[in-house]
Amino acid sequence: MADSVETLRMTEIVCIRAQVKQWRSAGESIAFVPTMGNLHAGHLQLVSAAKAQADRVVVSIFVNPTQFGESEDFSTYPRTLDADIEKLQSLAVDIAFVPLNEEIYPDIAMTEVCVSQISDNYCGAARPGHFNGVATVVSKLFNIVQPDYAFFGEKDFQQLAVIRAMVTDLNIPVEIISVPTFREADGLAMSSRNSRLTEQQRKQAAKLYQSLKLAKQAVLARQCTYAEIERQFMQLLIGQGFKPDYFSICRRQDLQAATVEDTQLIILLAARLGKVRLIDNIQLDI
Ligand code: AMP
Repeated sequence: MADSVETLRMTEIVCIRAQVKQWRSAGESIAFVPTMGNLHAGHLQLVSAAKAQADRVVVSIFVNPTQFGESEDFSTYPRTLDADIEKLQSLAVDIAFVPLNEEIYPDIAMTEVCVSQISDNYCGAARPGHFNGVATVVSKLFNIVQPDYAFFGEKDFQQLAVIRAMVTDLNIPVEIISVPTFREADGLAMSSRNSRLTEQQRKQAAKLYQSLKLAKQAVLARQCTYAEIERQFMQLLIGQGFKPDYFSICRRQDLQAATVEDTQLIILLAARLGKVRLIDNIQLDI
């Protein structure tokens, strides 16, 4: 276990590689939790699950520029590195990997990872290039850390599906483990972006999860088609002051539009409140 902030935090790829190599030769297993920092209790659930799974835990903190579009919030994304490191230290994480942008993205780079189909709709359609940025940086981080296990939140369900597909397709030797969405008392999914909501917007934001729960009831009641339910809830969110990107009833397995024959479903949504874009989802079995 690291005994000071200085030993906990690592910035260089060669250093983390050397440390992981040492652990491996001692027969220890390694779990990895990639994050963009501004850590909240949702992230810490992933860290706890990682600690329960493996001998060593590496958490990365890197606000990845390539997954933000030009008009998106890269520059205003909340950065709270010192507080993050303290949180990780209190959970006895072994390494906080905080790479510099230049190390992850040297000037000359010709390779990009594109996971087709599963990346195309929903957040992929609303944020062109987003999942290429995610898949590329996560594959680089996997190659740097070479973990046995990697932990991802179900809050970003499409991202989780993209990573699972990438790991399968590219034979990356890591087991992906998902962790359920951790919520505030009023149901709002915890997110780094919540801190950018005004007090009024913060109250309003809880309606997103309420709408997902209502839509789940509507699906189970089977009184309207899925397309009608999606339309009604898009209208409901617009009426409540959101600008929704999508509200979609999908098959959990491949995120295609659900049909009445499908039994394992997920309802995905993304909506803007002022300048803040929020996403959430709810799973249901018929
Ligand atoms: P981020 O820092 O937003 O890139 O998130 C890092 C990881 O934490 C991703 O795998 C997210 O899905 C996960 N995560 C974020 N918020 C939550 C939450 N409320 N509950 C569970 N996992 C979360």
